[in-house]
Amino acid sequence: MTPHDILRSMRVDEVQSKEAIEAFVSGVVSGSFSRPQAAAWLAHAFRRGLSDEETVVLTRAMTDSGTRLKWPVGTPLVDKHSTGGVGDKVSLVLAPLWAELGWRVPMISGRGLGHTGGTLDKLESIPGYRTDLEEARLGEILEHIGCFISGQTGEVAPADRILYALRNETCTVESIPLIVASILSKKLAEGVERLVLDVKTGSGAFMETEEDSKALAEALVRVAQGSGLVCNALITAMDRPLGEAVGNAVEVQESVACLKGEGPEDLRTVVLQLTNHPDATEVLRSGRAFERFVKMVEAQGGDARSLEDFKRLRGGGVGEAVLLAEREGYVQEVHARAIGVAAFELGAGRLRAEDPVDHGVGMWVHVEPGQRVSEGQPIATLLHRDGKNLDVAFRMVHDGVVIGDEYKPATPLVRAKIG
Ligand code: URA
Repeated sequence: MTPHDILRSMRVDEVQSKEAIEAFVSGVVSGSFSRPQAAAWLAHAFRRGLSDEETVVLTRAMTDSGTRLKWPVGTPLVDKHSTGGVGDKVSLVLAPLWAELGWRVPMISGRGLGHTGGTLDKLESIPGYRTDLEEARLGEILEHIGCFISGQTGEVAPADRILYALRNETCTVESIPLIVASILSKKLAEGVERLVLDVKTGSGAFMETEEDSKALAEALVRVAQGSGLVCNALITAMDRPLGEAVGNAVEVQESVACLKGEGPEDLRTVVLQLTNHPDATEVLRSGRAFERFVKMVEAQGGDARSLEDFKRLRGGGVGEAVLLAEREGYVQEVHARAIGVAAFELGAGRLRAEDPVDHGVGMWVHVEPGQRVSEGQPIATLLHRDGKNLDVAFRMVHDGVVIGDEYKPATPLVRAKIG
Protein backbone atom coordinates (compact mmCIF):
# COMPACT_ATOMS: atom_id res chain seq x y z
CA MET A 1 0.00 0.00 0.00
CA THR A 2 1.59 3.28 -1.07
CA PRO A 3 1.18 6.61 0.75
CA HIS A 4 -0.92 7.78 -2.22
CA ASP A 5 -3.32 4.81 -1.85
CA ILE A 6 -3.71 5.54 1.86
CA LEU A 7 -4.19 9.28 1.43
CA ARG A 8 -6.78 8.79 -1.35
CA SER A 9 -8.67 6.39 0.89
CA MET A 10 -8.51 8.83 3.85
CA ARG A 11 -9.69 11.63 1.54
CA VAL A 12 -12.96 9.86 0.76
CA ASP A 13 -13.49 8.81 4.40
CA GLU A 14 -13.10 5.07 3.89
CA VAL A 15 -12.67 2.94 6.99
CA GLN A 16 -8.93 2.43 7.43
CA SER A 17 -7.74 -1.17 7.50
CA LYS A 18 -5.18 -2.43 10.02
CA GLU A 19 -2.66 -2.75 7.17
CA ALA A 20 -3.21 0.86 6.06
CA ILE A 21 -2.77 2.28 9.57
CA GLU A 22 0.30 0.14 10.26
CA ALA A 23 1.81 1.16 6.90
CA PHE A 24 1.23 4.80 7.81
CA VAL A 25 2.94 4.51 11.23
CA SER A 26 5.90 2.45 10.03
CA GLY A 27 6.24 4.76 7.01
CA VAL A 28 6.36 7.83 9.27
CA VAL A 29 9.22 6.30 11.28
CA SER A 30 11.15 4.91 8.27
CA GLY A 31 10.66 8.04 6.18
CA SER A 32 8.82 6.28 3.35
CA PHE A 33 5.85 8.47 4.30
CA SER A 34 7.22 11.98 3.69
CA ARG A 35 6.52 14.76 6.22
CA PRO A 36 3.97 16.47 3.87
CA GLN A 37 2.22 13.11 3.37
CA ALA A 38 2.13 12.49 7.13
CA ALA A 39 0.81 16.02 7.67
CA ALA A 40 -1.97 15.36 5.11
CA TRP A 41 -2.87 12.10 6.90
CA LEU A 42 -3.10 13.96 10.21
CA ALA A 43 -5.27 16.68 8.66
CA HIS A 44 -7.68 14.01 7.32
CA ALA A 45 -7.75 12.26 10.70
CA PHE A 46 -8.39 15.60 12.40
CA ARG A 47 -11.30 16.42 10.06
CA ARG A 48 -13.03 13.03 9.82
CA GLY A 49 -12.04 11.60 13.23
CA LEU A 50 -11.08 7.97 13.79
CA SER A 51 -13.33 5.19 15.07
CA ASP A 52 -12.38 3.45 18.31
CA GLU A 53 -11.28 0.41 16.27
CA GLU A 54 -9.02 2.59 14.10
CA THR A 55 -7.67 4.35 17.21
CA VAL A 56 -6.86 1.03 18.90
CA VAL A 57 -4.87 -0.05 15.81
CA LEU A 58 -3.13 3.34 15.58
CA THR A 59 -2.23 3.19 19.29
CA ARG A 60 -0.83 -0.33 18.99
CA ALA A 61 1.20 0.54 15.89
CA MET A 62 2.64 3.63 17.62
CA THR A 63 3.54 1.54 20.69
CA ASP A 64 5.24 -1.06 18.51
CA SER A 65 7.28 1.63 16.75
CA GLY A 66 9.70 1.58 19.71
CA THR A 67 10.83 -0.22 22.85
CA ARG A 68 8.37 -2.04 25.08
CA LEU A 69 9.61 -2.25 28.67
CA LYS A 70 9.64 -5.73 30.22
CA TRP A 71 9.43 -6.34 33.94
CA PRO A 72 10.08 -9.46 36.04
CA VAL A 73 6.97 -11.60 36.62
CA GLY A 74 5.22 -10.62 39.86
CA THR A 75 2.28 -8.81 41.36
CA PRO A 76 0.09 -6.65 39.05
CA LEU A 77 1.59 -3.56 37.42
CA VAL A 78 -0.31 -0.30 37.62
CA ASP A 79 0.31 3.29 36.57
CA LYS A 80 -1.51 6.60 36.51
CA HIS A 81 -1.60 9.24 33.82
CA SER A 82 -2.65 12.80 34.50
CA THR A 83 -3.42 15.25 31.73
CA GLY A 84 -1.47 17.76 33.83
CA GLY A 85 -2.21 20.80 35.90
CA VAL A 86 -1.05 23.33 38.47
CA GLY A 87 0.13 21.94 41.82
CA ASP A 88 -0.50 18.37 40.63
CA LYS A 89 1.87 16.35 42.81
CA VAL A 90 -0.39 13.27 42.97
CA SER A 91 2.17 10.90 41.37
CA LEU A 92 4.68 11.44 44.19
CA VAL A 93 2.12 10.16 46.69
CA LEU A 94 0.31 7.58 44.59
CA ALA A 95 3.32 5.48 43.49
CA PRO A 96 4.58 4.60 47.02
CA LEU A 97 1.01 4.30 48.32
CA TRP A 98 0.10 1.75 45.64
CA ALA A 99 3.37 -0.12 46.27
CA GLU A 100 2.52 -0.31 49.97
CA LEU A 101 -0.89 -1.73 48.99
CA GLY A 102 0.77 -4.55 47.04
CA TRP A 103 0.88 -3.25 43.47
CA ARG A 104 4.03 -2.71 41.43
CA VAL A 105 4.28 0.76 39.93
CA PRO A 106 6.70 1.37 37.03
CA MET A 107 5.91 5.06 36.67
CA ILE A 108 7.42 6.82 33.66
CA SER A 109 6.82 10.55 34.01
CA GLY A 110 7.55 13.76 32.17
CA ARG A 111 8.86 17.24 32.69
CA GLY A 112 6.89 20.43 33.04
CA LEU A 113 6.11 22.61 30.05
CA GLY A 114 4.54 26.06 30.13
CA HIS A 115 2.28 26.68 33.12
CA THR A 116 2.00 23.00 34.15
CA GLY A 117 4.60 21.38 36.37
CA GLY A 118 6.35 18.07 35.74
CA THR A 119 6.81 15.19 38.17
CA LEU A 120 10.48 14.69 37.23
CA ASP A 121 11.34 18.35 37.90
CA LYS A 122 9.70 18.10 41.31
CA LEU A 123 11.59 14.92 42.22
CA GLU A 124 14.88 16.40 41.04
CA SER A 125 14.51 18.91 43.90
CA ILE A 126 15.77 16.00 46.01
CA PRO A 127 19.60 16.12 45.82
CA GLY A 128 21.00 13.15 43.89
CA TYR A 129 17.61 11.82 42.68
CA ARG A 130 18.16 10.13 39.31
CA THR A 131 15.45 10.12 36.65
CA ASP A 132 17.66 8.53 33.98
CA LEU A 133 18.28 5.02 35.32
CA GLU A 134 18.64 2.08 32.92
CA GLU A 135 15.81 -0.40 32.44
CA ALA A 136 17.73 -3.19 34.26
CA ARG A 137 18.21 -1.04 37.38
CA LEU A 138 14.58 0.10 37.27
CA GLY A 139 13.56 -3.58 37.14
CA GLU A 140 15.58 -4.24 40.32
CA ILE A 141 14.00 -1.28 42.09
CA LEU A 142 10.55 -2.47 41.03
CA GLU A 143 11.28 -5.91 42.43
CA HIS A 144 12.72 -4.74 45.76
CA ILE A 145 10.84 -1.51 46.49
CA GLY A 146 7.69 -1.99 44.40
CA CYS A 147 7.78 1.39 42.64
CA PHE A 148 9.93 3.88 40.82
CA ILE A 149 9.32 7.22 39.16
CA SER A 150 11.67 7.85 36.28
CA GLY A 151 12.03 9.45 32.86
CA GLN A 152 11.72 7.58 29.57
CA THR A 153 14.23 4.83 28.91
CA GLY A 154 15.05 3.63 25.40
CA GLU A 155 13.08 4.83 22.39
CA VAL A 156 9.50 4.81 23.66
CA ALA A 157 6.94 5.28 20.84
CA PRO A 158 9.20 7.19 18.38
CA ALA A 159 6.20 7.50 16.02
CA ASP A 160 4.53 9.67 18.65
CA ARG A 161 7.57 11.96 18.91
CA ILE A 162 7.45 12.58 15.14
CA LEU A 163 3.67 12.86 14.90
CA TYR A 164 3.34 15.10 17.98
CA ALA A 165 5.84 17.57 16.51
CA LEU A 166 3.97 17.51 13.18
CA ARG A 167 0.62 17.99 14.94
CA ASN A 168 2.04 21.07 16.65
CA GLU A 169 3.19 22.44 13.30
CA THR A 170 -0.07 21.66 11.48
CA CYS A 171 -2.56 22.70 14.23
CA THR A 172 -3.93 19.18 14.57
CA VAL A 173 -3.20 18.68 18.28
CA GLU A 174 -6.81 19.07 19.47
CA SER A 175 -8.14 15.83 18.05
CA ILE A 176 -9.41 13.33 20.60
CA PRO A 177 -8.37 10.14 18.72
CA LEU A 178 -4.90 11.58 18.05
CA ILE A 179 -4.50 12.65 21.71
CA VAL A 180 -5.71 9.23 22.87
CA ALA A 181 -3.26 7.33 20.64
CA SER A 182 -0.43 9.64 21.71
CA ILE A 183 -1.02 9.22 25.45
CA LEU A 184 -1.83 5.51 25.41
CA SER A 185 0.99 4.45 23.05
CA LYS A 186 3.49 5.70 25.64
CA LYS A 187 1.64 4.08 28.54
CA LEU A 188 1.29 0.71 26.74
CA ALA A 189 5.05 0.77 26.10
CA GLU A 190 5.58 0.78 29.89
CA GLY A 191 4.18 -2.73 30.08
CA VAL A 192 1.48 -2.04 32.72
CA GLU A 193 -1.72 -4.04 33.09
CA ARG A 194 -3.83 -1.42 34.76
CA LEU A 195 -4.06 2.30 34.10
CA VAL A 196 -5.82 4.95 36.15
CA LEU A 197 -6.41 8.29 34.46
CA ASP A 198 -6.78 11.69 36.09
CA VAL A 199 -8.29 13.95 33.45
CA LYS A 200 -8.21 17.54 34.67
CA THR A 201 -10.80 20.14 33.78
CA GLY A 202 -10.69 23.94 34.13
CA SER A 203 -8.49 26.94 33.32
CA GLY A 204 -5.24 25.23 34.35
CA ALA A 205 -5.94 22.05 32.37
CA PHE A 206 -5.25 20.88 28.84
CA MET A 207 -9.02 20.52 28.36
CA GLU A 208 -10.74 23.56 29.82
CA THR A 209 -14.42 22.59 29.59
CA GLU A 210 -16.01 19.70 31.42
CA GLU A 211 -17.61 18.52 28.19
CA ASP A 212 -14.23 18.23 26.41
CA SER A 213 -12.60 16.58 29.45
CA LYS A 214 -15.41 14.03 29.61
CA ALA A 215 -15.16 13.24 25.91
CA LEU A 216 -11.39 12.75 26.25
CA ALA A 217 -11.71 10.61 29.39
CA GLU A 218 -14.36 8.38 27.82
CA ALA A 219 -12.32 7.90 24.64
CA LEU A 220 -9.16 7.14 26.66
CA VAL A 221 -10.96 4.53 28.73
CA ARG A 222 -12.62 2.87 25.71
CA VAL A 223 -9.40 2.69 23.68
CA ALA A 224 -7.30 1.59 26.69
CA GLN A 225 -9.79 -1.20 27.39
CA GLY A 226 -9.80 -2.08 23.67
CA SER A 227 -6.01 -2.34 23.92
CA GLY A 228 -6.22 -4.87 26.76
CA LEU A 229 -5.68 -2.58 29.76
CA VAL A 230 -7.88 -2.46 32.83
CA CYS A 231 -8.63 1.24 32.87
CA ASN A 232 -10.77 3.80 34.63
CA ALA A 233 -10.70 7.58 34.84
CA LEU A 234 -11.59 10.42 37.16
CA ILE A 235 -12.36 13.89 35.98
CA THR A 236 -11.01 16.31 38.61
CA ALA A 237 -11.11 20.07 39.07
CA MET A 238 -8.27 22.20 37.72
CA ASP A 239 -10.03 25.57 37.86
CA ARG A 240 -7.92 26.18 41.00
CA PRO A 241 -4.53 24.64 41.91
CA LEU A 242 -4.42 21.26 43.65
CA GLY A 243 -3.16 21.74 47.21
CA GLU A 244 -1.35 24.84 48.41
CA ALA A 245 2.16 24.31 47.01
CA VAL A 246 3.00 25.25 43.41
CA GLY A 247 6.57 24.82 42.21
CA ASN A 248 9.13 22.05 42.63
CA ALA A 249 10.75 21.75 46.09
CA VAL A 250 7.57 23.13 47.70
CA GLU A 251 5.53 20.40 46.04
CA VAL A 252 7.90 17.75 47.42
CA GLN A 253 7.29 19.21 50.88
CA GLU A 254 3.52 19.02 50.42
CA SER A 255 3.76 15.48 49.04
CA VAL A 256 5.68 14.42 52.15
CA ALA A 257 2.88 15.83 54.31
CA CYS A 258 0.28 13.90 52.29
CA LEU A 259 2.38 10.72 52.50
CA LYS A 260 2.16 11.07 56.29
CA GLY A 261 -1.63 11.47 56.21
CA GLU A 262 -1.39 15.27 56.62
CA GLY A 263 -1.45 18.19 54.19
CA PRO A 264 -4.35 19.64 52.23
CA GLU A 265 -7.67 17.86 52.02
CA ASP A 266 -8.13 18.24 48.24
CA LEU A 267 -4.81 16.54 47.45
CA ARG A 268 -5.58 13.66 49.81
CA THR A 269 -9.07 13.26 48.33
CA VAL A 270 -7.77 12.99 44.74
CA VAL A 271 -5.06 10.54 45.84
CA LEU A 272 -7.54 8.36 47.74
CA GLN A 273 -10.12 8.35 44.97
CA LEU A 274 -7.51 7.38 42.38
CA THR A 275 -6.18 4.64 44.68
CA ASN A 276 -9.69 3.37 45.32
CA HIS A 277 -8.59 0.95 48.06
CA PRO A 278 -10.24 0.57 51.50
CA ASP A 279 -6.86 0.54 53.33
CA ALA A 280 -5.37 3.59 51.60
CA THR A 281 -6.33 6.16 54.28
CA GLU A 282 -4.81 4.03 57.03
CA VAL A 283 -1.62 3.39 55.03
CA LEU A 284 -1.14 7.16 54.67
CA ARG A 285 -1.96 7.85 58.30
CA SER A 286 0.42 5.13 59.56
CA GLY A 287 3.41 6.68 57.76
CA ARG A 288 4.03 3.45 55.79
CA ALA A 289 3.54 5.19 52.44
CA PHE A 290 6.12 7.78 53.48
CA GLU A 291 8.60 5.04 54.45
CA ARG A 292 8.09 3.44 51.03
CA PHE A 293 8.71 6.81 49.38
CA VAL A 294 11.98 7.16 51.35
CA LYS A 295 13.09 3.72 50.10
CA MET A 296 12.23 4.65 46.51
CA VAL A 297 14.11 7.96 46.75
CA GLU A 298 17.19 6.22 48.18
CA ALA A 299 17.08 3.51 45.52
CA GLN A 300 17.05 6.24 42.88
CA GLY A 301 20.11 7.91 44.42
CA GLY A 302 18.30 10.70 46.30
CA ASP A 303 19.31 12.12 49.67
CA ALA A 304 16.34 11.10 51.86
CA ARG A 305 17.50 13.43 54.66
CA SER A 306 16.00 16.24 52.58
CA LEU A 307 12.55 14.71 53.10
CA GLU A 308 12.78 15.44 56.85
CA ASP A 309 14.95 18.54 56.68
CA PHE A 310 13.54 20.58 53.77
CA LYS A 311 16.47 23.04 53.86
CA ARG A 312 18.44 20.27 52.17
CA LEU A 313 16.17 20.30 49.09
CA ARG A 314 17.70 21.93 46.03
CA GLY A 315 17.01 25.58 45.23
CA GLY A 316 17.41 27.03 48.73
CA GLY A 317 18.08 30.70 49.42
CA VAL A 318 14.92 32.08 47.83
CA GLY A 319 13.27 35.30 48.97
CA GLU A 320 9.67 35.45 50.23
CA ALA A 321 7.01 38.01 49.33
CA VAL A 322 3.56 37.79 50.88
CA LEU A 323 0.42 38.96 49.07
CA LEU A 324 -2.20 40.22 51.52
CA ALA A 325 -5.96 40.49 51.00
CA GLU A 326 -6.89 44.08 50.19
CA ARG A 327 -10.39 43.64 51.54
CA GLU A 328 -12.56 41.25 53.49
CA GLY A 329 -14.98 38.96 51.72
CA TYR A 330 -15.26 35.55 50.13
CA VAL A 331 -12.62 34.07 47.86
CA GLN A 332 -14.58 33.58 44.64
CA GLU A 333 -11.80 32.34 42.44
CA VAL A 334 -8.21 31.10 42.60
CA HIS A 335 -7.51 31.01 38.89
CA ALA A 336 -5.36 27.92 38.23
CA ARG A 337 -3.79 29.14 35.00
CA ALA A 338 -2.87 32.53 36.50
CA ILE A 339 -1.18 30.80 39.45
CA GLY A 340 0.62 28.38 37.12
CA VAL A 341 1.84 31.16 34.85
CA ALA A 342 2.99 33.18 37.90
CA ALA A 343 5.05 30.20 39.15
CA PHE A 344 6.43 29.81 35.63
CA GLU A 345 7.41 33.52 35.57
CA LEU A 346 9.25 33.07 38.87
CA GLY A 347 11.31 30.33 37.19
CA ALA A 348 9.59 27.12 38.37
CA GLY A 349 8.69 26.06 34.80
CA ARG A 350 10.12 26.06 31.32
CA LEU A 351 9.08 27.03 27.80
CA ARG A 352 11.26 24.54 25.89
CA ALA A 353 12.11 20.98 26.88
CA GLU A 354 15.81 21.78 27.18
CA ASP A 355 15.42 24.85 29.48
CA PRO A 356 16.47 24.49 33.17
CA VAL A 357 14.05 25.09 36.06
CA ASP A 358 14.72 26.73 39.43
CA HIS A 359 13.76 24.15 42.05
CA GLY A 360 13.40 26.65 44.89
CA VAL A 361 10.95 29.20 43.48
CA GLY A 362 7.16 28.91 43.34
CA MET A 363 4.52 29.72 45.91
CA TRP A 364 2.25 28.67 48.71
CA VAL A 365 -1.37 29.60 48.04
CA HIS A 366 -3.04 30.08 51.43
CA VAL A 367 -6.67 30.43 50.35
CA GLU A 368 -9.22 28.41 48.40
CA PRO A 369 -12.52 29.23 46.69
CA GLY A 370 -15.41 29.66 49.11
CA GLN A 371 -13.18 30.71 52.01
CA ARG A 372 -13.95 33.86 54.05
CA VAL A 373 -10.93 36.17 54.41
CA SER A 374 -10.32 39.39 56.32
CA GLU A 375 -8.42 42.43 55.15
CA GLY A 376 -4.65 41.94 55.51
CA GLN A 377 -4.87 38.15 55.65
CA PRO A 378 -2.07 36.37 53.71
CA ILE A 379 -3.30 35.16 50.31
CA ALA A 380 -0.08 33.69 48.94
CA THR A 381 3.63 33.55 49.72
CA LEU A 382 5.72 33.90 46.57
CA LEU A 383 9.19 32.34 46.61
CA HIS A 384 11.47 34.27 44.27
CA ARG A 385 15.09 34.27 43.18
CA ASP A 386 16.55 37.74 43.79
CA GLY A 387 13.26 39.37 42.78
CA LYS A 388 13.32 37.90 39.24
CA ASN A 389 9.92 38.57 37.60
CA LEU A 390 8.44 39.10 41.06
CA ASP A 391 6.39 42.15 40.00
CA VAL A 392 4.70 40.34 37.13
CA ALA A 393 4.09 37.18 39.20
CA PHE A 394 2.71 39.23 42.09
CA ARG A 395 0.28 40.99 39.74
CA MET A 396 -0.87 37.69 38.25
CA VAL A 397 -1.62 36.15 41.64
CA HIS A 398 -3.28 39.39 42.74
CA ASP A 399 -5.59 39.33 39.69
CA GLY A 400 -6.08 35.56 39.81
CA VAL A 401 -7.40 35.51 43.39
CA VAL A 402 -10.79 37.22 43.28
CA ILE A 403 -12.39 38.35 46.55
CA GLY A 404 -16.02 39.54 46.56
CA ASP A 405 -19.05 40.00 48.79
CA GLU A 406 -20.99 37.05 47.47
CA TYR A 407 -20.27 33.51 48.72
CA LYS A 408 -19.37 31.23 45.82
CA PRO A 409 -18.56 27.65 46.82
CA ALA A 410 -15.70 25.79 45.17
CA THR A 411 -16.77 23.68 42.21
CA PRO A 412 -16.83 19.92 42.99
CA LEU A 413 -13.33 18.43 43.17
CA VAL A 414 -14.21 15.10 41.58
CA ARG A 415 -16.58 15.69 38.67
CA ALA A 416 -17.08 12.19 37.30
CA LYS A 417 -15.84 8.63 37.38
CA ILE A 418 -15.58 6.74 34.13
CA GLY A 419 -15.03 3.02 33.65
N1 URA B 1 -0.25 14.69 25.84
C1 URA B 1 0.29 13.78 25.01
O1 URA B 1 1.14 12.99 25.41
N2 URA B 1 -0.15 13.75 23.73
C2 URA B 1 -1.08 14.59 23.25
O2 URA B 1 -1.42 14.50 22.10
C3 URA B 1 -1.61 15.54 24.13
C4 URA B 1 -1.18 15.58 25.43
